[in-house]
Amino acid sequence: MSLNGKLYQLNLDKVKTWARINSPWALHFNSGSCNGCDIEILATLTPRYDLERFGIKLQGSPRHADVLLCTGGVTRQARDRLIRIYEQMHTPKFVVAIGACALTGGVFRECYNVLGGVDQVIPVDAYIPGCPPRPEAIIDGVIKLLTKIKTPESE
Ligand code: SF4
Repeated sequence: MSLNGKLYQLNLDKVKTWARINSPWALHFNSGSCNGCDIEILATLTPRYDLERFGIKLQGSPRHADVLLCTGGVTRQARDRLIRIYEQMHTPKFVVAIGACALTGGVFRECYNVLGGVDQVIPVDAYIPGCPPRPEAIIDGVIKLLTKIKTPESE
């Protein structure tokens, strides 16, 4: 590749990283949650917590999502759907496990139909503990993830 081509590619990568950090689109998936964590995610979108001030937009299609927000331990029923959604997301993609159940299975651990935490099925980039985690903790975890995206190693 010529020097101009390399410079063009470098600038393009910088623009892509800048865009990704400033407007990540997030997809929420409940893989077996009791809905407590899901309500806290919704609370982050309310004017009181206003997650969108960081440019983060919750939307419905995995094909448009950069970040997968996953709640609940993974049930046998949800496993294949979770994998399919993860595979439908474009790369680079990031997964955030939200709540004790998404981390380890939590209170549903060792239930006959629960496989465990999200990382038993797909790779996880950030873990947010709590039962359920407060909206502040969810926002803090997502911001830490955005900081991680800034580093070249995560490219
Ligand atoms: S961590 Fe707590 S609130 Fe969240 S899904 Fe598990 S039991 Fe429900």
